[in-house]
Amino acid sequence: MAESGATGGPSVPEVAPEDCELCEAARFTHWYHEDDVCWVADCEACDCPMVVWKQHGTAAPDDDIEHMMAQLAAAGRERFGDDPFTIDRVMRQIPWHFHAHARDRRWQQRRWSSQPSRYSGAVGGPRLLIETT
Ligand SMILES: [Zn+2]
Ligand SMILES: [Zn+2]
Repeated sequence: MAESGATGGPSVPEVAPEDCELCEAARFTHWYHEDDVCWVADCEACDCPMVVWKQHGTAAPDDDIEHMMAQLAAAGRERFGDDPFTIDRVMRQIPWHFHAHARDRRWQQRRWSSQPSRYSGAVGGPRLLIETT
């Protein structure tokens, strides 16, 4: 669909859905939620809950964004409880596919020390951690 060529714009790299890891939606970590619009799982890179739009691209309609932010906030409350967290919509690693993170205050420290979660085999339910031996 996208033309290859020099039609400029801000430099978001063109990445095909086949090469997009958010489209791949591999289930390695805990999945909080899934529906027709989006899925929410722990981000493999930073261990924070992350909502991902089910369509490749960044032009999510307002309704979808509102829906996704609500799902992300629900996952954030499930994960962090009463600890405050913020919604981070900056797409640093994957600027070509809409996603957002819920981050608590300690996420940067935690990413070096905490055990990552693992996919339990189903969406939702208890958040299981990878066992270290
Ligand atoms: Zn992340
Ligand atoms: Zn994608």
